[in-house]
Amino acid sequence: MTRAEDLLPADEQERLAECAREPIHVPGAVQPHGVLLAVDPTTFEVVQVSDGCRRLLGVEVQAVLGHPLEAAVGPGCSRRLRTALAAADDGAVPALRAEVDGTPVDVSAHGSGPLLVVEVEPAGDASPARILAGLHAAAERLSRSRTVEEVRTATAQEIRRLTGFDRVMVYHFHPDGHGEVVAEDRVEEVEPYLGLHYPASDIPAQARRLYVLQPSRHIVLDAEGPNPLLRLGGGAGGDDTTPLDLSRAHLRAVSPHHAQFMRNMGIGASMSLPLVHDGELVGMVSCGDRRARHLPHALRQACEVLARQLTSRLTSLYETRQLSKRLEVQQVRTRLVEQMAGAEDVSDGLTRGEVTLLDLVPAHGAVVSLDEVLVQVGATPPPADVLAVVERLRSTEEGNLPLVSDALALERPDLAELLPSTAGVVFVPFGGDRDYLIWFRREVVQTLDWLGDQSAQNRDTPLSPRNSFSSWRQSVSGRCLPWDPVEVSEACELRRDIDAVLLRRAESRLAHLGLHDALTGLPNRRLLMDRLGHALDRHGRGSAVALLFIDLDRFKLVNDSFGHDVGDALLLHAAHRIKHAARASDTVARLGGDEFMVLCEDTDAVAVGALAQRIVDAFQEPVEMEGRELRITASIGVTTAQEHHRPADLLREADTAMYLAKKEGRNRASRFEAGLRYQALRHLDTEQALRRGLGRGELELHYQPIVDVPTGELRGVEALLRWNRPGVGQVPPDRFIPLAEDTGFIVPLGEWVLDEALGQLRTWKSQGHLPPGFRMAVNLSPQQLGSPTFVAVVQRAVERNGVAPSEVSLEMTETTLMSERSTMSEAVEALSSLGVGLSIDDFGTGYSSLAYLRYLPVQQLKVDRSFVSGAVPGSRDVALVAAVCGLAQEFGMTCVAEGVERAEELAMLAEIGCDSAQGFHIGRPEPAAALEARWRPRATATGGESRARGARVG
Ligand code: C2E
Ligand code: CA
Ligand code: CA
Repeated sequence: MTRAEDLLPADEQERLAECAREPIHVPGAVQPHGVLLAVDPTTFEVVQVSDGCRRLLGVEVQAVLGHPLEAAVGPGCSRRLRTALAAADDGAVPALRAEVDGTPVDVSAHGSGPLLVVEVEPAGDASPARILAGLHAAAERLSRSRTVEEVRTATAQEIRRLTGFDRVMVYHFHPDGHGEVVAEDRVEEVEPYLGLHYPASDIPAQARRLYVLQPSRHIVLDAEGPNPLLRLGGGAGGDDTTPLDLSRAHLRAVSPHHAQFMRNMGIGASMSLPLVHDGELVGMVSCGDRRARHLPHALRQACEVLARQLTSRLTSLYETRQLSKRLEVQQVRTRLVEQMAGAEDVSDGLTRGEVTLLDLVPAHGAVVSLDEVLVQVGATPPPADVLAVVERLRSTEEGNLPLVSDALALERPDLAELLPSTAGVVFVPFGGDRDYLIWFRREVVQTLDWLGDQSAQNRDTPLSPRNSFSSWRQSVSGRCLPWDPVEVSEACELRRDIDAVLLRRAESRLAHLGLHDALTGLPNRRLLMDRLGHALDRHGRGSAVALLFIDLDRFKLVNDSFGHDVGDALLLHAAHRIKHAARASDTVARLGGDEFMVLCEDTDAVAVGALAQRIVDAFQEPVEMEGRELRITASIGVTTAQEHHRPADLLREADTAMYLAKKEGRNRASRFEAGLRYQALRHLDTEQALRRGLGRGELELHYQPIVDVPTGELRGVEALLRWNRPGVGQVPPDRFIPLAEDTGFIVPLGEWVLDEALGQLRTWKSQGHLPPGFRMAVNLSPQQLGSPTFVAVVQRAVERNGVAPSEVSLEMTETTLMSERSTMSEAVEALSSLGVGLSIDDFGTGYSSLAYLRYLPVQQLKVDRSFVSGAVPGSRDVALVAAVCGLAQEFGMTCVAEGVERAEELAMLAEIGCDSAQGFHIGRPEPAAALEARWRPRATATGGESRARGARVG
């Protein structure tokens, strides 16, 4: 980001730098109206004293240097100072009234390095009682002032009344460091300065730092000039040559540059009271007098009190003002959000209603740039120009941060050249990193009245102070009116609102697409399970629930011999027949393939039996298709809910009963009987066998390639578990993983999978055929993520196998993420901070809300294969895949499509802009050796350098 100072003219920058080099805190001299002594704090021996101390103290330097402090200020004063110091917790004494050599003086002391600095100033004739009365009256008046302007003016007047100075001004500092006179009280004869601006170099950086340390700074330009500090040992030398730091000394000599500046202004004495808020110099009260008059210490202290009161009054008035401004702007934002949520199109909601973006941030025009489409309100630059800027911003790193400029030509000439008629802009990115809200303001030529001509003619040399301080008018072009920070920050808040609205829309779009089967329009598994869950919840209140599992007989044969089109048409017929046989209140769903389900509520065993029979009967009629008569029958499993049944139990029972129907000769319905539970018991045997199998090396991983859609390059592989069960053959994971999950065996099993997969990754890496960025994907079950040691398990596996965490991607389903949300998201956070990639598997089948995408560190969405396999152009499946890809992009994630079985599907993915793909068309899951055999021959054929190409699959 550009700092405001960087935008100052070059000569002013040079002056600032020059001033900043002057070591003003160690001038080695003090102003002549007082005496400064440096004392050893343990012995109270004077080790330095300012020359000319005789005038105020009545003793010569020689009688003071090397002597106890009392030689200079008398025993009484010295004693009181010691006592006061002993009581002070900051090692400083602000002021002590004393009499030295018959004159009333103010004595103050503070530490500087190893020494104690004691300052003596004439007390003048200001009586403490009078000062206190004046202070009282002033404080009274300040507390009655109601506005920022009133408080400033009252302060200027009251301080002038107290001090009797010719002129008292209040300065306000602008962000670029230049000051403005915002209040003034003065005698008639001096020129008015109110409303004038002065450059930052008038109060250079190190002077500002000193102001923060010191509550006031008083300068008297005595004709005789500063008095040098003399040291023990003679002259300005002495044994210790470290210059005495006078940062906090009242009497610190003025820099020659500043003295010249004051003389040019016609000032003999000044007092400045910094206005410091939270350690920052935010303004200043500046008093000046044509005569070189000394203002007694006590009066200065009274003014310091007023300056502090001014700061606190100003702060609270600003805060109130900011707060009411913020409330006002927030109301506009709320109305905009309501309007946007109600509108069909987000951009229209922001630009077309009763309130628009221009009510939130006043400007000449505003634009919403969403998905390459611009919608504008007010007067904006031509759309082509705006798009060009959006393009340029997107390509930069900071393009996803807000950009605020009221001087575009100066601050961003690269953008200004694309927007010739625009002086200022606000760009607020939203969504991913591609969309923007943009406000435009035109130039407003501002006139600035300067305290003295800033140009070279008014200076002896470019670095000298100005000679004349008469008002000098400058017109500033190339700027718009400054943007209000409150409005800008609300505009940035609006970004979050838009993101939330866009997310909710994506959610409901996906929800609609995702809850129904694309082919038949029937509810899908997800919706069915959801309804089944609700039905079982109501079950206790007398609603008897039954489930029918319908599987078409030998459907695969029809599909394979007559083709998919005939198969699909047949499925549509089947859906129609089932629906026709069922009651209107039943839910008929398609689980996928040739499996259907009917959920009945408020039913009984007799009614369900009758329904099952009606469905079996409905399939007896042959279907006429392309001149052929096809007859396809159905096998049905029936079960009714018992107490404590969960949806998955009911589904399993119906499935088991359906298998029984098949076994008994198909084309019939079977009821789930308690006897069938014996099959469930067989699961237990299976579990034992699985446990033994792991020990006996019966488990094996296959790897399926994942490739980049545009280039076909290998991106990684997914590890998929296989069980080579003796006497049974290869058991697919769907058969034993649910069992392992039910029994908890998945935790050690998953640990084995992770270690095995990462070991394979290490082997491949050491052989050197992997393309850059290759990732090993490993599937996770919910029980694994829920296990308290899981994060440590992953960390250990990564370390033991010597692979980088970023080379590992863990796949979990949304259901996994959502169960016991809080512990899961902790584990997910921890995994992400390890650096492993996280991927949502089977995306599109399980969501309830997508809100988690906003807070979980997920890098990848894997669109479920049911949406990809067999998807035809223009179908709802394709729409869903495109929506998921868009969503992934929006959130800066990548999108992988699973289940690519045909070239057409791959082409469809390329068109949609999907990043990666996986599926039988690209490569089946294979043992490591088989996969290697595919990429190795090419790698050796083309030589060692072309490994990346050699790793291409397909
Ligand atoms: P998944 O994570 O969705 O894995 C992808 C499944 O899709 C694999 O089935 C894969 O063989 C199959 N597939 C890939 N391309 C195609 C295609 O073009 N068409 C079709 N029809 N199928 C395709 P697989 O190997 O039978 O695994 C089934 C599920 O078992 C996996 O689904 C995953 O949820 C689970 N699984 C497999 N290995 C593990 C494991 O190590 N741990 C855990 N927790 N679960 C695993
Ligand atoms: Ca997976
Ligand atoms: Ca999957």
